Amino acid sequence: MAAITLKNIVKKYGDGFPAVNDVSIDIADGEFVILVGPSGCGKSTLLRMIVGLEDITSGEMMIGDRKVNDLAPRDRNLAMVFQNYALYPHLSVYENIAFPLRLAGESDDEVDRKVREASKTLELDEHLDRKPGNLSGGQRQRVAMGRAIVREADAFLFDEPLSNLDAKLRGQMRTEIARLQKRLGITTVYVTHDQTEAMTLGDRVAVLKRGLLQQLATPRELYENPGNLFVAGFIGSPPMNFLPAEVDGTTVTLPFGTVQIPEEKAERAQGKGVLMAGIRPEYFEDAEIADKVGSDSTFSADIDFVEWLGNETYAYIPFEAPPEVEAKMRELEADLDGEGLRTQLVVSLDGSSRIKEGDKAEIYVDAAKMHLFDPATGENLT
Ligand code: ATP
Repeated sequence: MAAITLKNIVKKYGDGFPAVNDVSIDIADGEFVILVGPSGCGKSTLLRMIVGLEDITSGEMMIGDRKVNDLAPRDRNLAMVFQNYALYPHLSVYENIAFPLRLAGESDDEVDRKVREASKTLELDEHLDRKPGNLSGGQRQRVAMGRAIVREADAFLFDEPLSNLDAKLRGQMRTEIARLQKRLGITTVYVTHDQTEAMTLGDRVAVLKRGLLQQLATPRELYENPGNLFVAGFIGSPPMNFLPAEVDGTTVTLPFGTVQIPEEKAERAQGKGVLMAGIRPEYFEDAEIADKVGSDSTFSADIDFVEWLGNETYAYIPFEAPPEVEAKMRELEADLDGEGLRTQLVVSLDGSSRIKEGDKAEIYVDAAKMHLFDPATGENLT
Protein backbone atom coordinates (compact mmCIF):
# COMPACT_ATOMS: atom_id res chain seq x y z
CA MET A 1 0.00 0.00 0.00
CA ALA A 2 1.08 3.56 -0.50
CA ALA A 3 0.15 7.20 -0.40
CA ILE A 4 -0.46 8.91 -3.75
CA THR A 5 0.54 12.54 -4.21
CA LEU A 6 -0.52 14.76 -7.09
CA LYS A 7 1.35 18.04 -7.22
CA ASN A 8 0.29 20.80 -9.63
CA ILE A 9 -0.83 18.26 -12.21
CA VAL A 10 -1.70 19.68 -15.64
CA LYS A 11 -2.95 17.83 -18.71
CA LYS A 12 -3.33 19.53 -22.05
CA TYR A 13 -4.52 17.77 -25.18
CA GLY A 14 -3.03 19.77 -28.07
CA ASP A 15 -3.29 23.55 -27.59
CA GLY A 16 -6.76 23.41 -26.06
CA PHE A 17 -8.10 24.35 -22.66
CA PRO A 18 -6.38 22.16 -20.02
CA ALA A 19 -8.43 19.01 -19.28
CA VAL A 20 -6.76 19.00 -15.84
CA ASN A 21 -5.59 22.36 -14.56
CA ASP A 22 -3.02 22.58 -11.72
CA VAL A 23 -4.59 19.95 -9.48
CA SER A 24 -2.88 19.04 -6.19
CA ILE A 25 -4.24 16.21 -4.02
CA ASP A 26 -2.53 14.25 -1.20
CA ILE A 27 -4.05 10.82 -0.80
CA ALA A 28 -3.01 9.14 2.43
CA ASP A 29 -1.98 5.49 2.70
CA GLY A 30 -5.21 3.46 3.02
CA GLU A 31 -7.46 6.39 2.22
CA PHE A 32 -10.54 6.18 -0.05
CA VAL A 33 -10.67 9.30 -2.25
CA ILE A 34 -13.39 10.03 -4.79
CA LEU A 35 -12.93 12.18 -7.89
CA VAL A 36 -16.34 13.56 -8.80
CA GLY A 37 -17.77 16.13 -11.18
CA PRO A 38 -19.96 16.51 -14.25
CA SER A 39 -19.06 15.11 -17.65
CA GLY A 40 -15.82 16.57 -19.04
CA CYS A 41 -14.50 17.87 -15.69
CA GLY A 42 -11.29 15.87 -16.12
CA LYS A 43 -11.81 13.13 -13.53
CA SER A 44 -11.08 10.20 -15.88
CA THR A 45 -8.05 11.97 -17.31
CA LEU A 46 -6.72 12.42 -13.77
CA LEU A 47 -7.21 8.74 -12.98
CA ARG A 48 -5.59 7.70 -16.25
CA MET A 49 -2.57 9.85 -15.40
CA ILE A 50 -2.28 8.15 -11.99
CA VAL A 51 -2.34 4.70 -13.55
CA GLY A 52 0.02 5.75 -16.35
CA LEU A 53 -2.31 5.46 -19.34
CA GLU A 54 -1.98 9.17 -20.07
CA ASP A 55 1.13 11.39 -20.11
CA ILE A 56 1.36 14.21 -17.60
CA THR A 57 1.91 17.62 -19.25
CA SER A 58 3.41 19.13 -16.09
CA GLY A 59 3.46 18.57 -12.34
CA GLU A 60 4.64 15.73 -10.16
CA MET A 61 3.01 12.38 -9.45
CA MET A 62 4.30 10.33 -6.51
CA ILE A 63 3.30 6.85 -5.36
CA GLY A 64 4.80 6.32 -1.92
CA ASP A 65 8.21 7.94 -2.26
CA ARG A 66 8.62 7.08 -5.94
CA LYS A 67 8.18 9.73 -8.60
CA VAL A 68 6.19 7.93 -11.28
CA ASN A 69 5.71 10.58 -14.01
CA ASP A 70 7.72 8.57 -16.50
CA LEU A 71 7.06 5.05 -15.22
CA ALA A 72 5.16 2.61 -17.46
CA PRO A 73 1.76 1.45 -16.08
CA ARG A 74 3.06 -2.05 -15.31
CA ASP A 75 5.85 -0.61 -13.14
CA ARG A 76 3.52 1.46 -10.96
CA ASN A 77 2.05 -1.52 -9.07
CA LEU A 78 -1.49 -0.18 -9.19
CA ALA A 79 -4.63 -2.18 -9.89
CA MET A 80 -7.25 -0.66 -12.14
CA VAL A 81 -10.70 -2.21 -11.70
CA PHE A 82 -12.48 -1.55 -14.99
CA GLN A 83 -16.17 -0.98 -15.52
CA ASN A 84 -16.56 -4.28 -17.37
CA TYR A 85 -14.22 -6.01 -14.87
CA ALA A 86 -12.01 -7.25 -17.75
CA LEU A 87 -12.38 -10.90 -16.70
CA TYR A 88 -11.43 -13.82 -18.98
CA PRO A 89 -14.75 -15.54 -19.78
CA HIS A 90 -13.16 -18.92 -20.60
CA LEU A 91 -11.21 -19.11 -17.32
CA SER A 92 -12.61 -20.15 -13.93
CA VAL A 93 -12.79 -17.73 -11.03
CA TYR A 94 -9.70 -19.46 -9.63
CA GLU A 95 -7.71 -18.96 -12.83
CA ASN A 96 -8.92 -15.39 -13.27
CA ILE A 97 -7.61 -14.51 -9.81
CA ALA A 98 -4.44 -16.53 -10.38
CA PHE A 99 -3.71 -14.85 -13.70
CA PRO A 100 -1.31 -12.10 -12.57
CA LEU A 101 0.56 -14.59 -10.36
CA ARG A 102 1.05 -17.03 -13.22
CA LEU A 103 2.25 -14.16 -15.41
CA ALA A 104 4.79 -13.32 -12.72
CA GLY A 105 5.97 -16.95 -12.80
CA GLU A 106 5.05 -17.84 -9.23
CA SER A 107 5.06 -21.51 -8.16
CA ASP A 108 1.82 -23.54 -8.11
CA ASP A 109 1.94 -23.73 -4.32
CA GLU A 110 2.37 -20.00 -3.98
CA VAL A 111 -0.42 -19.32 -6.51
CA ASP A 112 -2.75 -21.70 -4.66
CA ARG A 113 -2.04 -20.14 -1.26
CA LYS A 114 -2.62 -16.58 -2.47
CA VAL A 115 -5.75 -17.36 -4.52
CA ARG A 116 -7.34 -19.24 -1.59
CA GLU A 117 -6.51 -16.48 0.84
CA ALA A 118 -7.93 -13.75 -1.42
CA SER A 119 -11.04 -15.72 -2.29
CA LYS A 120 -11.74 -16.26 1.41
CA THR A 121 -11.45 -12.54 2.11
CA LEU A 122 -13.79 -11.83 -0.79
CA GLU A 123 -16.19 -14.68 0.05
CA LEU A 124 -15.60 -16.28 -3.31
CA ASP A 125 -14.23 -19.59 -2.00
CA GLU A 126 -17.38 -21.47 -2.96
CA HIS A 127 -17.33 -20.21 -6.53
CA LEU A 128 -13.73 -20.92 -7.55
CA ASP A 129 -14.70 -23.41 -10.29
CA ARG A 130 -17.32 -21.21 -11.92
CA LYS A 131 -16.86 -19.13 -15.06
CA PRO A 132 -17.49 -15.35 -14.92
CA GLY A 133 -20.62 -15.80 -17.10
CA ASN A 134 -22.27 -17.70 -14.24
CA LEU A 135 -21.62 -15.07 -11.60
CA SER A 136 -23.66 -12.10 -10.42
CA GLY A 137 -22.40 -8.59 -11.11
CA GLY A 138 -21.28 -8.30 -7.50
CA GLN A 139 -19.34 -11.55 -7.62
CA ARG A 140 -17.65 -10.50 -10.86
CA GLN A 141 -16.61 -7.26 -9.24
CA ARG A 142 -15.08 -9.24 -6.37
CA VAL A 143 -13.15 -11.47 -8.78
CA ALA A 144 -11.71 -8.34 -10.39
CA MET A 145 -10.76 -7.08 -6.95
CA GLY A 146 -9.31 -10.49 -6.06
CA ARG A 147 -6.99 -10.24 -9.02
CA ALA A 148 -5.80 -6.91 -7.67
CA ILE A 149 -5.38 -8.23 -4.13
CA VAL A 150 -3.18 -11.22 -5.04
CA ARG A 151 -0.85 -8.87 -6.87
CA GLU A 152 -0.47 -6.92 -3.64
CA ALA A 153 -1.04 -3.71 -5.57
CA ASP A 154 -0.26 -0.43 -3.81
CA ALA A 155 -3.66 1.02 -4.66
CA PHE A 156 -7.01 0.27 -6.30
CA LEU A 157 -8.25 2.59 -9.03
CA PHE A 158 -11.91 2.49 -10.09
CA ASP A 159 -13.37 4.31 -13.10
CA GLU A 160 -17.18 4.48 -12.79
CA PRO A 161 -17.46 0.77 -11.92
CA LEU A 162 -21.19 0.89 -11.22
CA SER A 163 -22.50 3.07 -14.02
CA ASN A 164 -23.88 0.18 -16.12
CA LEU A 165 -25.89 -1.37 -13.30
CA ASP A 166 -29.52 -0.88 -12.37
CA ALA A 167 -30.28 1.23 -9.29
CA LYS A 168 -30.80 -1.67 -6.87
CA LEU A 169 -27.63 -3.53 -7.79
CA ARG A 170 -25.71 -0.27 -7.79
CA GLY A 171 -26.74 0.30 -4.18
CA GLN A 172 -25.69 -3.21 -3.15
CA MET A 173 -22.35 -3.00 -4.92
CA ARG A 174 -21.66 0.38 -3.43
CA THR A 175 -22.06 -1.06 0.06
CA GLU A 176 -19.89 -4.00 -0.87
CA ILE A 177 -17.05 -1.87 -2.22
CA ALA A 178 -17.16 0.33 0.89
CA ARG A 179 -17.08 -2.70 3.19
CA LEU A 180 -14.21 -4.37 1.33
CA GLN A 181 -12.15 -1.23 1.10
CA LYS A 182 -12.44 -0.72 4.87
CA ARG A 183 -11.54 -4.34 5.54
CA LEU A 184 -8.57 -4.38 3.18
CA GLY A 185 -7.40 -0.86 4.00
CA ILE A 186 -6.02 -0.40 0.48
CA THR A 187 -5.50 3.13 -0.86
CA THR A 188 -8.33 3.68 -3.33
CA VAL A 189 -9.10 6.32 -5.95
CA TYR A 190 -12.59 6.13 -7.41
CA VAL A 191 -14.05 8.16 -10.27
CA THR A 192 -17.77 8.83 -10.51
CA HIS A 193 -20.20 11.50 -11.66
CA ASP A 194 -22.72 10.31 -9.06
CA GLN A 195 -22.74 12.43 -5.94
CA THR A 196 -24.45 9.70 -3.89
CA GLU A 197 -21.54 7.33 -4.59
CA ALA A 198 -19.12 10.11 -3.76
CA MET A 199 -20.81 10.92 -0.46
CA THR A 200 -21.27 7.34 0.73
CA LEU A 201 -17.92 5.85 -0.32
CA GLY A 202 -15.29 8.50 0.16
CA ASP A 203 -13.18 9.30 3.20
CA ARG A 204 -12.64 12.49 1.21
CA VAL A 205 -14.13 13.76 -2.02
CA ALA A 206 -12.42 15.91 -4.65
CA VAL A 207 -14.99 17.93 -6.63
CA LEU A 208 -13.79 18.98 -10.09
CA LYS A 209 -15.19 21.43 -12.62
CA ARG A 210 -13.60 22.06 -16.03
CA GLY A 211 -10.25 20.66 -14.92
CA LEU A 212 -10.09 22.71 -11.72
CA LEU A 213 -10.26 21.30 -8.21
CA GLN A 214 -13.15 23.08 -6.50
CA GLN A 215 -12.93 21.52 -3.05
CA LEU A 216 -11.29 18.50 -1.40
CA ALA A 217 -12.99 17.58 1.84
CA THR A 218 -14.88 14.94 3.80
CA PRO A 219 -18.46 14.31 2.60
CA ARG A 220 -19.83 16.03 5.71
CA GLU A 221 -17.68 19.11 5.21
CA LEU A 222 -18.72 19.34 1.54
CA TYR A 223 -22.36 19.08 2.52
CA GLU A 224 -22.32 21.43 5.46
CA ASN A 225 -19.70 23.92 4.29
CA PRO A 226 -19.51 23.95 0.49
CA GLY A 227 -16.73 26.32 -0.56
CA ASN A 228 -18.58 27.74 -3.53
CA LEU A 229 -21.82 27.77 -5.50
CA PHE A 230 -20.74 24.94 -7.76
CA VAL A 231 -20.01 22.50 -4.93
CA ALA A 232 -23.16 23.61 -3.11
CA GLY A 233 -25.28 22.87 -6.19
CA PHE A 234 -23.54 19.62 -7.07
CA ILE A 235 -23.70 17.93 -3.66
CA GLY A 236 -27.12 17.11 -2.19
CA SER A 237 -30.37 15.60 -3.45
CA PRO A 238 -32.78 17.22 -3.93
CA PRO A 239 -30.29 20.01 -4.56
CA MET A 240 -29.79 23.15 -2.52
CA ASN A 241 -32.20 26.00 -3.30
CA PHE A 242 -30.61 29.19 -4.59
CA LEU A 243 -32.41 32.48 -4.31
CA PRO A 244 -31.63 36.19 -4.22
CA ALA A 245 -30.86 37.71 -0.83
CA GLU A 246 -30.15 41.18 0.51
CA VAL A 247 -28.40 41.49 3.86
CA ASP A 248 -28.87 44.46 6.16
CA GLY A 249 -27.49 43.93 9.65
CA THR A 250 -28.69 40.48 10.68
CA THR A 251 -31.83 40.75 8.53
CA VAL A 252 -31.85 38.90 5.23
CA THR A 253 -34.53 39.77 2.70
CA LEU A 254 -35.51 36.78 0.58
CA PRO A 255 -38.20 36.69 -2.16
CA PHE A 256 -40.73 35.29 0.33
CA GLY A 257 -39.94 37.50 3.33
CA THR A 258 -37.24 38.39 5.84
CA VAL A 259 -35.32 36.11 8.20
CA GLN A 260 -32.68 36.70 10.88
CA ILE A 261 -29.19 35.19 10.67
CA PRO A 262 -26.46 34.98 13.35
CA GLU A 263 -24.23 38.05 13.67
CA GLU A 264 -20.93 36.43 12.64
CA LYS A 265 -22.54 35.13 9.46
CA ALA A 266 -24.11 38.52 8.72
CA GLU A 267 -20.83 40.39 9.21
CA ARG A 268 -19.11 38.56 6.38
CA ALA A 269 -21.97 39.36 3.99
CA GLN A 270 -22.43 43.12 4.56
CA GLY A 271 -22.33 45.68 1.76
CA LYS A 272 -22.06 43.21 -1.09
CA GLY A 273 -25.34 43.99 -2.88
CA VAL A 274 -27.65 41.19 -3.95
CA LEU A 275 -26.23 37.84 -2.88
CA MET A 276 -27.24 34.30 -3.68
CA ALA A 277 -28.68 32.51 -0.67
CA GLY A 278 -28.29 28.73 -0.54
CA ILE A 279 -30.85 26.85 1.53
CA ARG A 280 -31.10 23.06 1.56
CA PRO A 281 -34.65 21.64 1.27
CA GLU A 282 -34.38 20.10 4.74
CA TYR A 283 -33.63 23.45 6.43
CA PHE A 284 -37.38 24.15 6.06
CA GLU A 285 -40.17 22.85 8.27
CA ASP A 286 -43.95 22.92 8.37
CA ALA A 287 -44.31 25.70 10.97
CA GLU A 288 -47.45 24.14 12.47
CA ILE A 289 -45.67 20.85 13.17
CA ALA A 290 -42.50 22.58 14.38
CA ASP A 291 -44.56 24.90 16.61
CA LYS A 292 -42.97 27.94 14.94
CA VAL A 293 -46.03 29.81 13.63
CA GLY A 294 -45.37 33.53 14.16
CA SER A 295 -41.59 33.17 14.65
CA ASP A 296 -39.36 35.70 12.86
CA SER A 297 -38.15 32.96 10.49
CA THR A 298 -41.61 31.79 9.46
CA PHE A 299 -43.22 32.96 6.24
CA SER A 300 -46.46 32.38 4.34
CA ALA A 301 -45.94 30.55 1.06
CA ASP A 302 -48.16 29.73 -1.90
CA ILE A 303 -47.82 26.00 -2.38
CA ASP A 304 -47.74 25.20 -6.07
CA PHE A 305 -47.29 21.43 -5.92
CA VAL A 306 -46.77 18.68 -3.34
CA GLU A 307 -45.10 15.27 -3.52
CA TRP A 308 -45.69 12.92 -0.59
CA LEU A 309 -43.02 10.23 -0.15
CA GLY A 310 -44.24 8.70 3.09
CA ASN A 311 -41.47 9.77 5.45
CA GLU A 312 -41.18 13.24 3.91
CA THR A 313 -43.14 15.66 1.78
CA TYR A 314 -41.67 17.89 -0.93
CA ALA A 315 -43.52 21.15 -1.43
CA TYR A 316 -42.79 23.47 -4.38
CA ILE A 317 -43.00 27.24 -3.94
CA PRO A 318 -42.37 29.54 -6.96
CA PHE A 319 -40.44 32.81 -6.57
CA GLU A 320 -39.06 35.58 -8.76
CA ALA A 321 -35.36 36.42 -9.04
CA PRO A 322 -33.91 39.76 -10.21
CA PRO A 323 -32.21 39.57 -13.66
CA GLU A 324 -28.59 39.50 -12.34
CA VAL A 325 -29.35 36.58 -10.04
CA GLU A 326 -31.37 34.84 -12.72
CA ALA A 327 -28.38 35.14 -15.10
CA LYS A 328 -26.05 33.65 -12.47
CA MET A 329 -28.49 30.81 -11.92
CA ARG A 330 -28.52 29.99 -15.64
CA GLU A 331 -24.71 29.95 -15.69
CA LEU A 332 -24.62 27.62 -12.71
CA GLU A 333 -27.23 25.42 -14.32
CA ALA A 334 -25.01 25.02 -17.40
CA ASP A 335 -22.04 24.13 -15.17
CA LEU A 336 -24.09 21.49 -13.43
CA ASP A 337 -25.23 19.88 -16.69
CA GLY A 338 -28.69 21.34 -16.31
CA GLU A 339 -29.18 19.73 -12.92
CA GLY A 340 -30.81 21.28 -9.97
CA LEU A 341 -31.65 24.91 -10.60
CA ARG A 342 -35.00 26.52 -10.85
CA THR A 343 -36.89 29.60 -9.77
CA GLN A 344 -38.98 27.60 -7.39
CA LEU A 345 -38.16 26.62 -3.89
CA VAL A 346 -38.20 22.91 -3.01
CA VAL A 347 -38.81 22.36 0.67
CA SER A 348 -38.65 19.00 2.41
CA LEU A 349 -41.24 18.75 5.19
CA ASP A 350 -42.10 16.00 7.62
CA GLY A 351 -44.19 13.19 6.09
CA SER A 352 -46.95 13.95 8.60
CA SER A 353 -47.45 17.45 7.12
CA ARG A 354 -50.96 18.03 5.77
CA ILE A 355 -49.88 20.87 3.45
CA LYS A 356 -51.42 20.51 0.00
CA GLU A 357 -51.43 22.08 -3.45
CA GLY A 358 -53.04 25.55 -3.52
CA ASP A 359 -52.54 26.18 0.22
CA LYS A 360 -51.13 29.34 1.69
CA ALA A 361 -48.91 27.57 4.21
CA GLU A 362 -46.74 28.69 7.12
CA ILE A 363 -43.17 27.53 6.50
CA TYR A 364 -40.29 27.87 8.96
CA VAL A 365 -36.69 28.13 7.79
CA ASP A 366 -33.67 27.40 9.99
CA ALA A 367 -31.91 30.56 8.79
CA ALA A 368 -28.79 29.96 10.89
CA LYS A 369 -27.88 27.18 8.45
CA MET A 370 -28.35 29.35 5.36
CA HIS A 371 -25.33 29.95 3.11
CA LEU A 372 -24.66 33.25 1.36
CA PHE A 373 -22.66 33.25 -1.85
CA ASP A 374 -21.06 36.11 -3.75
CA PRO A 375 -22.76 35.78 -7.17
CA ALA A 376 -19.75 37.29 -8.96
CA THR A 377 -17.10 34.87 -7.64
CA GLY A 378 -19.30 32.03 -6.42
CA GLU A 379 -17.47 32.08 -3.08
CA ASN A 380 -19.35 31.02 0.05
CA LEU A 381 -19.16 34.07 2.33
CA THR A 382 -20.65 32.44 5.39
P1 ATP B 1 -16.88 11.81 -18.46
O1 ATP B 1 -17.61 11.64 -17.18
O2 ATP B 1 -17.77 12.28 -19.56
O3 ATP B 1 -16.01 10.66 -18.82
P2 ATP B 1 -14.60 13.22 -17.39
O4 ATP B 1 -14.87 14.15 -16.27
O5 ATP B 1 -14.05 11.90 -17.04
O6 ATP B 1 -15.92 13.07 -18.25
P3 ATP B 1 -12.38 13.48 -19.14
O7 ATP B 1 -12.73 12.27 -19.92
O8 ATP B 1 -11.24 13.40 -18.22
O9 ATP B 1 -13.65 14.00 -18.36
O10 ATP B 1 -12.16 14.69 -20.16
C1 ATP B 1 -11.78 15.99 -19.74
C2 ATP B 1 -11.67 16.88 -20.96
O11 ATP B 1 -10.59 16.45 -21.79
C3 ATP B 1 -12.90 16.87 -21.82
O12 ATP B 1 -13.12 18.18 -22.28
C4 ATP B 1 -12.54 15.94 -22.96
O13 ATP B 1 -13.21 16.29 -24.12
C5 ATP B 1 -11.05 16.16 -23.09
N1 ATP B 1 -10.35 14.94 -23.58
C6 ATP B 1 -10.34 13.73 -22.96
N2 ATP B 1 -9.59 12.84 -23.65
C7 ATP B 1 -9.13 13.51 -24.74
C8 ATP B 1 -8.28 13.14 -25.86
N3 ATP B 1 -7.76 11.92 -25.97
N4 ATP B 1 -8.03 14.11 -26.76
C9 ATP B 1 -8.52 15.36 -26.65
N5 ATP B 1 -9.31 15.76 -25.63
C10 ATP B 1 -9.62 14.85 -24.69
